[in-house]
Amino acid sequence: MNEHDADAAEELADRVRTGDLRLYELEDHADADTAAAARRRLVEEHSGADLSTTAEYALDAEQASESAIENMIGAAQIPMGVAGPVTIDGGAYDGETYLPLATTEGALLASVNRGLSVIDDSGGAAARITKRGMTRAPVFRVSGIAEGQALADWTRDNVEKLRAAAESTTSHGKLMDVTPYVVADNVYLRFRYDTADAMGMNMATIATQAAADVVEAETDASLVALSGNMCTDKKPAAINAVEGRGRSVTAEVKIPREMVEKTLKTSPEAISEVNTRKNLLGSAKAASLGFNAQAANVVAAMYLATGQDAAQVVEGSNAIVSMEAREDGLYAAISMASIEVGTVGGGTKLPTQAEGLDVLGIRGGGDPAGSNADALAECVAVGALAGELSLLSALASRHLSSAHEQLGR
Ligand code: NAP
Repeated sequence: MNEHDADAAEELADRVRTGDLRLYELEDHADADTAAAARRRLVEEHSGADLSTTAEYALDAEQASESAIENMIGAAQIPMGVAGPVTIDGGAYDGETYLPLATTEGALLASVNRGLSVIDDSGGAAARITKRGMTRAPVFRVSGIAEGQALADWTRDNVEKLRAAAESTTSHGKLMDVTPYVVADNVYLRFRYDTADAMGMNMATIATQAAADVVEAETDASLVALSGNMCTDKKPAAINAVEGRGRSVTAEVKIPREMVEKTLKTSPEAISEVNTRKNLLGSAKAASLGFNAQAANVVAAMYLATGQDAAQVVEGSNAIVSMEAREDGLYAAISMASIEVGTVGGGTKLPTQAEGLDVLGIRGGGDPAGSNADALAECVAVGALAGELSLLSALASRHLSSAHEQLGR
C-alpha cells in the first residue's frame, strides 16, 4: 500500500473511531481495498493482532465485497492441491482430470491420491446423476386442519399457476414439483427446482417468494417464513438423505483382486468387512445420516477449491458406501444424496475458485445447461469414493496385519 492509500485508510478508520461512520459503511466512501485496509487498522488496534498476512490477497476486493462478503478485511488463504489424474466415465463428465482440493488437513490429499490411482489403474470410475432438484419450503399459517388440508389440495390443483409465477423470476430455473406437508395449523410447501448450472439457493428463494405471493393472494394462508426448514438447507436432515437435494450422484469402480492385494495391501473381503461393520452397522447404531468414513473431508476440500457454499458440507456428508467382495475383486461405490454444487454464481466467480473449476474444465454455464454442475457433482463423488477406498483399505490392512501377527504366534 502506497503512502497515499495508507493516508486514505487512516482517514477512513478515524471516521469510524469518531463515530462518523459505521464499520459496514466504508465501501460507500472509498474503494474496497482502502475500506479493507481501514478495517484492518481498527481490528489491529482493538485486538492487538497483526493482520499483515490477511492483507496479502490477489482477489478483486471490489468484486468480492459486492457479492461474496461484507466488512472485508482481507482473505483467509487455504492451501490448494490436486489429486489424480483419474479417468471418469460420467453421464456429464467424460475424460481424465486432476481433482482440486483446498484443505488444512495434512494427509487428506495423499489419501485421496492413493484411492484415485487405484481407481485409475482399474480403468477409471463410472458416475451418474440419479436425481436433481434444489428445494425451498416456505411455511404458511392456516386457521386449522380443515384449511390445512384445503391448502394442500389447492396446491396440487394449482401447480401450473405457481410454476408461472416462480419461473417469471429466472431464465434458467424450472419448477419441478411442489410437495405439501401439513403439521397442525402449518402448511409447508416444498418447492423443487432444476437450477441448471447454479447451486440455486438464491434462484430458488427468489422464485419461491413469487409463488408464495400467489398462495397468499388466492388463499387465506399467511406466509410465516420463506424458509420453513423443510428445505432443508445447512442442517442435518433425513429428508435430504432420503429425497435428495441438489444432485444425487453415485460413483463406482471395480478393482481387480490383484490390485487390491498389491496396491492397497489388503483383500476385497477385508475391505468389505470393515465397510459393513464400520460404515453400515456402526453408522446405523449411531443413527448417523452418513454411512461413510470420510466423505465430508473430500466434499469440504473440493467445495472450498471450487467456490461452493462451504456450509452445505452438512448435506454433502449424506453418503452411503458399498464395498462388495466379488470373485474377481472389489466392487466399490458411493451414493451421495445431496451434493449442492454450481459452476456459475456464488463463490465460483472468485479468481482462485474459478481456477479450481478450470482444473476440471467446467467453469461457467454448461452445454446443455446444467451439464457443468452435473459434471462437478460426479467429480466430487469420484473424489469421495477415492477417500473411502484409501481409508477403508488402510483400516483393513491394519486389521489384516494384526490378524497375521496373531496367527503367526
Ligand atoms: P446466484 O449467484 O444467486 O445466481 C446465479 C445466476 O446465474 C442465476 O440466477 C442465473 O440467472 C444465472 N445463470 C447464468 N447462466 C446460468 C446457467 N447455465 N445455469 C444456471 N444459472 C445461470 O447463485 P445461486 O446458485 O442461485 O445461489 C448461490 C448463492 O446462494 C451462494 O452464494 C450461496 O452462498 C447463497 N445462499 C443463499 C441462500 C438463501 O437462502 N438465499 C442460502 C444458502 C446459500 P437466471 O436466474 O436469470 O437464469
